[in-house]
Amino acid sequence: MQRNAKSTAALRKVKYFLLDMDGTIYLDTTLFDGTLEFLDILKQQGRRAIYITNNSSKSVKEYVKKLHNIGIEVPAEDFCTSAQALVYNLDKVKPGARIYLVGTPPLADYLRECGFTLLDDYTDDPALRPDYVVLGFDTTVTYEKLRIACDYLTDGVEFWATHPDMVCPMRPGHSVPDAGAFMLLFEGATGRRPSFVAGKPNPCMIQMCMDKYGLKPDEVAVVGDRLNTDILSAKNAGVISVCVLTGEATLADIDATPKERKPDYVFDSIKDIYEILKAARRPRGGRHA
Ligand SMILES: [Mg+2]
Repeated sequence: MQRNAKSTAALRKVKYFLLDMDGTIYLDTTLFDGTLEFLDILKQQGRRAIYITNNSSKSVKEYVKKLHNIGIEVPAEDFCTSAQALVYNLDKVKPGARIYLVGTPPLADYLRECGFTLLDDYTDDPALRPDYVVLGFDTTVTYEKLRIACDYLTDGVEFWATHPDMVCPMRPGHSVPDAGAFMLLFEGATGRRPSFVAGKPNPCMIQMCMDKYGLKPDEVAVVGDRLNTDILSAKNAGVISVCVLTGEATLADIDATPKERKPDYVFDSIKDIYEILKAARRPRGGRHA
């Protein structure tokens, strides 16, 4: 079948590859065949990889360590997370906001570092109430946290979330409930859904990278394994979309996807992108990471 909507020439012009991680460059702690070669050829050709993730349970520091442990050296500045995208937007509307967080301690620390005040308990005093309930991927969730968040949502406190993923992949064939599943829980309990969700498919993380590095849409490709987050975020940002079949999406899923949401490129794995770039020259204006 014809898998790619665009010629490989467009892919060879890309300067910045925004990479999803789980299911795209590794699964859990196992690097995919071709990942290191792909990252290596980007450096050789003056292109750059930026690691974008919806997972708000880990800090950037933890991601630096995780990638180091599987053999990839990446500086903290080369990550872009849904937590950063949430803060980027919260800073625009309510810097220093008071927050009730359903999230992990690393996310709590990050929000405090960014100048927000985190509340620990419920209060019915309107003057002391939080400005926002923020939902992240909370692997430390307790019934008490759910109860307090529901109380604030019932009181009408603004509701934001870091990302909409229903599950987070673990070992092959298994996953754990993610922030999207908790959104359904909160909707069932209170009728409320978040008014803003920072992570993919929102193009916010992609736009943050384009602003930071001064990039045009045809210089950017998002590579990911999920149609409704990775690929849709690229479509929403107007950049090139590349789906790899090493994670969630299957060819049958792609066939069943409406034309306007289909990825520009579909490859078995990241190794195929390496093979295409290997035959390419360095893009004009590219620089080493
Ligand atoms: Mg993924």
